[in-house]
Amino acid sequence: MTYKITDDCISCGTCADECPVGAITEGDGKYEIDPDKCIDCGTCAGVCPVEAPKPEE
Ligand code: SF4
Ligand code: SF4
Repeated sequence: MTYKITDDCISCGTCADECPVGAITEGDGKYEIDPDKCIDCGTCAGVCPVEAPKPEE
């Protein structure tokens, strides 16, 4: 399981700075998580102001 950023993302960039493995990059209109890098720590969900990162099965 990894996290996935929903369309609620406002591209603030906070999660990308906080991700311990650098899995988050700026994508087209929102930030994106590389599922091959994500270790499912939940940090991005905790720092996001709009709760855009959600756990995905
Ligand atoms: Fe990075 Fe953790 Fe979010 Fe995965 S869950 S993208 S490892 S901050
Ligand atoms: Fe988007 Fe939330 Fe990450 Fe900001 S912290 S870039 S709003 S997912």
